[in-house]
Amino acid sequence: NTRLAGKHALVTAAGAGIGRATALAFAEAGAQVLATDIDTAALESLAATHPSIRTQRLDVTRTDEIDALVAANNSIDVLFNCAGFVHAGTILDTDEQAWKRSFSINVDSMFHLCKRVLPGMLERGRGSIVNMSSVASSIKGVPNRFAYSTTKAAVIGLTRSIAADFVARGVRCNAICPGTVKTPSLGDRVRALGGDEEAVWRSFIERQPMGRLGTPEEIAALALYLASDESAFTTGTVHVVDGGWSN
Ligand code: NAD
Repeated sequence: NTRLAGKHALVTAAGAGIGRATALAFAEAGAQVLATDIDTAALESLAATHPSIRTQRLDVTRTDEIDALVAANNSIDVLFNCAGFVHAGTILDTDEQAWKRSFSINVDSMFHLCKRVLPGMLERGRGSIVNMSSVASSIKGVPNRFAYSTTKAAVIGLTRSIAADFVARGVRCNAICPGTVKTPSLGDRVRALGGDEEAVWRSFIERQPMGRLGTPEEIAALALYLASDESAFTTGTVHVVDGGWSN
């Protein structure tokens, strides 16, 4: 398909899960995709799946790496800020390091990337920024997601502010709020909890009223829509894709 024909897209955390599915969906829609991650082996295997996917190592917490990457790729039309880190626990389980790390990966990364990518978008008068938030944010209080939900609520504020500031200059900015999606890192979190893995999976599934988890492809479909001109009249919005969890 040609939904993103002629567009250059930058995707963070494209090695696995939602970022990977989205990088592939963007490439299949005709975009030239720069897929980034800290996991270079994962990037290599992704690059092998589609000729329009280029890859580069990018740690979203490193401003020097962001500077270099954006300087070398100054015509980005679509920025998908997907990188995120889940810290588990209540406020009492959250030390300052976990708090700061959550903000560094989930929020500061978007500040730095948007700030550097925006000038080029404004110069060309076109651009779509898609930011990964979560239903666990200002939408819904979820137990044991204190630091995570705080950062994902901040992502919504960041998204709406950018949208408001540049609404008349051709740049749109929207947020995606998934429910629980079956990705490799969810598997890691289940294993990390220890004990009866089967029961933990069941508990994740049971909190989804649809009786199943989401797939990375279902989130990628929304990211593709928001990246493309089909959503040209949509900015500053918060898109929930959660199997009815927050309803
Ligand atoms: P994930 O957590 O499995 O991670 C994907 C990739 O992020 C990995 O390849 C990893 O190498 C990379 N990564 C980790 N630290 C990085 C860093 N500092 N810089 C660059 N890359 C880094 O992926 P996921 O579960 O698909 O989550 C992607 C996004 O979606 C996150 O922002 C997450 O918070 C959000 N989200 C996920 C779910 C879910 O249920 N999976 C639900 C709501 C929101």
